[in-house]
This record gives sequence, structure tokens and C-alpha cells, in this order.
Amino acid sequence: MHRLGLTAVVPCYDEADSVAQTHAEIVAALGDYDLELLFVDDGSADDTLAEIRRLAAADPRVQYLSFSRNFGFEAAFSAGYKYARKPWLVHLDADLQFPPAEVHHLVERALEGYDAVFGVRRARHDPWHRRWGAAGYHWLGRRLRLRIPAGATTFRVLRTELARRVVELRLGTPYFLATVPLLTSRIATVPVEHRPRTRGTSKFRLGRLIGHALELYVAFSRRAVHGAAVLLLLAALASAGLAVAAFAGWLGVAAALGGGLLAQCFALAGGAVLLRYTVLVADAQPRPAMFYIREASIRVDPADELFPGAGPALLIPAQREDAA
Ligand code: UDP
Ligand code: MG
Repeated sequence: MHRLGLTAVVPCYDEADSVAQTHAEIVAALGDYDLELLFVDDGSADDTLAEIRRLAAADPRVQYLSFSRNFGFEAAFSAGYKYARKPWLVHLDADLQFPPAEVHHLVERALEGYDAVFGVRRARHDPWHRRWGAAGYHWLGRRLRLRIPAGATTFRVLRTELARRVVELRLGTPYFLATVPLLTSRIATVPVEHRPRTRGTSKFRLGRLIGHALELYVAFSRRAVHGAAVLLLLAALASAGLAVAAFAGWLGVAAALGGGLLAQCFALAGGAVLLRYTVLVADAQPRPAMFYIREASIRVDPADELFPGAGPALLIPAQREDAA
């Protein structure tokens, strides 16, 4: 029987309490595939790397990359997508809020002829501010005509080659969901279970999520930037009108002041978007790579290594496969 080659990409940041269980559950659910597990240690400060090394030493299906510092979620999964070696990959977070058993449904769908299949949570088990935030984020995204598959999550099955192309484009973060539809229309979604996090803690703070949203709107749509410019112009006109009305005595000072402050709110919001855009433009200047790898169980591009040619820090069983 032909077994489908599948890499499970698992980004890990301070997940020492989770990885062993994560490995066990993935292997139990997906052991029938020609499976590779690629753990990406995103510069964890706890024992995550030691745990992953232990798993890699005991199970030849386990490979890993370890960053030289914390580069963030997008960098972690991007490195995983880049170095996945099976023709298909599935993205699984270390907390396994998406049950690995659900992967079968995504793969089945993909084999109907899709390049990318995204899990959509039937019911989301996250705090209310995360759920409401996501709803607002997608609503605004649709207004800005971003082609993000409705409800799509990081729980996804993709052709590895497609994932690699997206990573190579490096269109800014959070880019993955917004970039895939720019490359292919063969995208499907599948309803999946979602569980509350039971081990470790969420690595996402509200400020970071707001920053991500702003970046998405500004990077993938010029509408937000145009809108900001229009907002600034309208605020300027409103302020001028209020000033004239106040001087002419048509409007009380309090009303004029209130109106002026309101106009200022819009102007500041517009200014914030434009400022963010300036940062994006500045980002086009030479900059460091998206991530640097300090240690890996597989051969990696020297350009991705912090110390190229330093060689693997330790030999683990999986490397024999590479050397052969
Ligand atoms: N993660 C990472 N780097 C980071 C933050 C998170 O690799 O800087 C990993 C984390 O270990 C987890 C996944 O990304 O495996 C998703 O993070 P988390 O579960 O905290 O996010 P949430 O489910 O709260 O959105
Ligand atoms: Mg989670």
C-alpha cells in the first residue's frame, strides 16, 4: 500500500511540559502515514530543546530545528515548512488544541484535488477576547477585500512545495493565510474540533494580536492606507469647519471643542495606519533573515544558520538517514 508522506510541523516556544505528550499523540493518530515530525524550537528558555533532543534520539521519525533566539510564531512555522521533507505537511501547535486525529479529514479533502486545506473550528475553546478579536479581524479583512478563507486557522494540510513557495515570498506577517490565496485557488476548509489548552500557557498577548491585524491590513491591502489618507483629509476639513463656525459665533465653544477632539481621534487613527505603512516601507531595507538556526537534526541551508559550517552539535540517530 502506498503511504502518504506527511510532515507534522510543530512550532514550540517554552513547551517543555507539552512536547512528549504532543509526540505521543501525533504518533498514535498519524502513525499510519509515512510520517516525519519536525519540531521547531523557537528559542525556548525552558527545557523544550532537551525534550525534543530526547524524542529525536528515541524516534527516527523526529527531526528538529532550534533557533538561536525567539523569532516568533511565524518564523517558527516558516522554518518548519521550509525544511519539511515529505510531500504533504500538517501544521500542529504543540498544545494540540487541534486533535491530531482530525488530520485524516483534512488529508482526505486535500486528496480530492486541493493544494491547501484549512481546519475551521466548529466551536472555539479560547477566551472570549480571542474569539471576539478574531471575528472583528476577519470582518475587517473581508471589508478590505483580503482573500482569507473564512474561519481558516493554523491547523492546515498543504502541499509542502506550496508552503515553501509562500515562505520564500516573505510578504510580511501574518502572511500565510493571506498569501496562499494569491498563489492557488485550490483551497478547501473542513470543520474540526478545537480543545481548550490544557498544558502550558498561550503565548499570544492582546497587543501582539492587534499588531498582527494592523500589519495584515496594511501589508495586503492598499485600502487601509487610502482610507487613512481620506480620514486625515476629512478630519482636517471638519476641524476647519468647526473653527470657522466657532469664530463666527454659530457654535458654542464647548461644542466646537468637542467636535474638534472627535476629528482629532479620527486623524490620529489615520496617522497610526500611515505610520505603520512607513514601517513596512522601511522594512524593505536590508534586514536580518526571518530566523537563524543554531542546531538542527537535518542538513539546513548555511544561509539559515547562525554559525554556518559549525556542524551539528550532536549526532542523533535520524542523521544517519541524511548521511546515507
Ligand atoms: N509559538 C512559537 N513561538 C512564539 C509563540 C508561540 O513557536 O513566539 C508556538 C507555541 O509553542 C505553540 C504555537 O506556536 O505551539 C501556538 O501558540 P499558542 O498555543 O500559545 O497560541 P494560541 O493557541 O493561544 O493562539
Ligand atoms: Mg494554542
